[in-house]
Amino acid sequence: MEHNGYITETEIGGAANGPLAGTTVAVKDNLSTEGVRTTCGSAMLAEYVPPFDATVVERVKNAGATIPGKTNMDEFGMGTTTETSAFGPVENPAAPGHVPGGSSGGSAAVVAAGDADLALGTDTGGSVRCPAAFCGVVGIKPTYGLVSRYGLVAYANSLEQVGPIAPTVAEAAELLEVIAGPDSQDATTRDATDHGTDYDFAAAADGDVDGLSVGVPTELVEGAEEGVREQFWAAIDDLEAAGATHEAVSLPSVEHAVEAYYVIAMGEASSNLARYDGVRYGVSGGYEGDWNETFARSREEGFGEEVKRRVLLGTYALSAGYQEKYYKKAQDARAWVQQDFDSAFETVDVLASPTMPVTPFELGESLDDPLKMYLADANTTPVNLANLPAISVPVGETDGLPVGMQLVGPAFGEKAIIRAGSALA
Ligand code: GLN
Repeated sequence: MEHNGYITETEIGGAANGPLAGTTVAVKDNLSTEGVRTTCGSAMLAEYVPPFDATVVERVKNAGATIPGKTNMDEFGMGTTTETSAFGPVENPAAPGHVPGGSSGGSAAVVAAGDADLALGTDTGGSVRCPAAFCGVVGIKPTYGLVSRYGLVAYANSLEQVGPIAPTVAEAAELLEVIAGPDSQDATTRDATDHGTDYDFAAAADGDVDGLSVGVPTELVEGAEEGVREQFWAAIDDLEAAGATHEAVSLPSVEHAVEAYYVIAMGEASSNLARYDGVRYGVSGGYEGDWNETFARSREEGFGEEVKRRVLLGTYALSAGYQEKYYKKAQDARAWVQQDFDSAFETVDVLASPTMPVTPFELGESLDDPLKMYLADANTTPVNLANLPAISVPVGETDGLPVGMQLVGPAFGEKAIIRAGSALA
């Protein structure tokens, strides 16, 4: 299609009846679909056809939705612009000439363009929220363990969750309701009812913020571009006009979040991606009697530059002489970030910040500068480190480019962020 949002267009039918009957739900191409290729945006898996459905795919089908296609993405979810895809970049339908954000850029783009009603993305360090913000739609990253990861091709297991993307908060909440809940195939799933809540997420989208206290972490606003900050504060005014109050809070640890996130994510990625050996999965390097040679050749051919960079850095960070220096330190920082959020939620109900400190890059602008790309994740990665739920809602434009507000809740506090978000979009 026009924006290159789909890697594979198809039509996977769902049950005749259900809460999503008559709805199309596009699915990110790192979620397994039985009989339909699942590439992860990688040449390595260009021909890979899974023999089973991911749990979230099964649930969406059982709810009556039709899946119109598998959406384009940064290779294995590694990126913030959807430009590391082996299937070409995606153009942002809300900002022509600009990236849609990433890594679930295809999912956000097909929703923004009206080529699907709803979509599933995955969020390891912001990959649902960033493209939602850049494309002017809504995205939710659930509490770690609320949604099954069974059938999600792993990038960094301890950080990622599947999340909905939709034009409105109410629709995103409805899709979350369908995919959430324990799964015997994923031992890291948790039952929300054991954590003081239920699954009536759609009903929470009632826009009632009367008496809600909103904390604004200074560290996550200061670094944002001026136009982004303006739209952010205008949205805070809207929440206050609807009965909420706001106060400044401090999360001193978040200045280390991007570094800690990338050490952990790359470490987990280097381990997860070891399975692409050209024998069990992936393009074959051609067997000539030497295993190492075959392994190296298939990875040389099958992986793109960003994936190779991360496998190398992750392997280095986990290696015997260095893991105390990098991986252990990153885990300590992760614990500190978690504590900071815990203490903030002792005084406020939700936290608000710009989703992205920047507006969508022009196509091609950030590819040569990975550091610039990594730093754009400053506001989203702390949430994954702390395993918390967050939503991105559109709050206007600056210079014609969409701006998103991120609302973060305590663990299993999906209803609070849905309620707050629904007062805005
Ligand atoms: N941009 C981040 C990264 O490249 C987040 C990606 C994601 O959430 N999958 O790792």
